[in-house]
Amino acid sequence: MSVNSKLYEGKAKILYTTDDPEVLLADFKDDATAFNAQKRGSIQGKGKINCIISSKLFEQLEAHGIKTHFIANPAPNQMRVRAVNILPLEVVVRNIAAGSLCQQTGLPLGTVLKKPLVEFYYKNDELGDPLLTSDRLYLMELATPEQVDAITHLALQINEFLRGFWQRCSITLVDFKLEFGLDSQQQLLLADEISPDTCRLWDIAEGDSNRRVLDKDRFRRDLGNVENAYQEVLQRVIKAVETKN
Ligand code: 5GP
Repeated sequence: MSVNSKLYEGKAKILYTTDDPEVLLADFKDDATAFNAQKRGSIQGKGKINCIISSKLFEQLEAHGIKTHFIANPAPNQMRVRAVNILPLEVVVRNIAAGSLCQQTGLPLGTVLKKPLVEFYYKNDELGDPLLTSDRLYLMELATPEQVDAITHLALQINEFLRGFWQRCSITLVDFKLEFGLDSQQQLLLADEISPDTCRLWDIAEGDSNRRVLDKDRFRRDLGNVENAYQEVLQRVIKAVETKN
C-alpha cells in the first residue's frame, strides 16, 4: 500500500493518506509536549514505544469486543488505521485522583474514587481543552445524546479491561484519555492512542510518589528517567501479552 500526502500533523503523530480512502497511516513522533504545548521536548524512542504499546492494547481490546481504528503495523513506529472523523472530545476516565481533578477539586493526590469518573473535555487547543458540562456539550453540538451514552458505556468497559491488563503488568491505572471517531459508515471506533503519553501509570511495587510514576508526568514534572519509564512500560506490556497468549 503506497503512502500519499501528509493529511495532518499533530503534537505526537503525523497522519498520511494512503491509496485506500478508508485507511490512513499514523507515524508516531518522539516529540513531547505538555501544558497545551507550552512545554516542548523530545523523548528518545517514544514514537516507537507508544506505537507498539497502543497497538498491543488495541489488539487486546478488539479481542475483547471493543471496536478500534487499529489495522496493522507496517513499521514499529507506524500504525495503519481506519480513517475516522474524530469527535472533538477528550474522554477522561479516572480511578484515582490526580492531575487536574486534584487541582480543581482539592481532592488529595491518590484518593481512590468510589467508582470510575468519566469526564468530557472540549478538544480545542486554542481554548486549552476545557472541561465540559453536558449542557455545554449539547449546546456546542459536539456529539449526540446517543453518542455520549455509547461513549460513556465504552469508556467504562475499556477502563475495566485496561485496569485488569495493567494490573497484570504490576501497574495501577490511575486515569487516561480516550478519543473516538466515526468511520464512513458512522460506526463509533476507539481512535488515537493509549500509551504512557495518555495514561497515568503507577508502579504497584513502588511506594515513593515520584519513583512510582511510569508515564508522561515524568516529563511534565521534570522527574527525570523519562525514556527508562517508557521502556519499562513497554517491556511489561510485551511480557503481559506474551504470557496471556
Ligand atoms: P488531567 O485532566 O488530570 O490533566 O489528565 C487526565 C488524564 O488524561 C491523564 O492521564 C492525561 O495523560 C490524559 N490527558 C488529558 N488531556 C490530555 C492531552 O491533551 N494529551 C494527552 N497526551 N493526554 C491527556
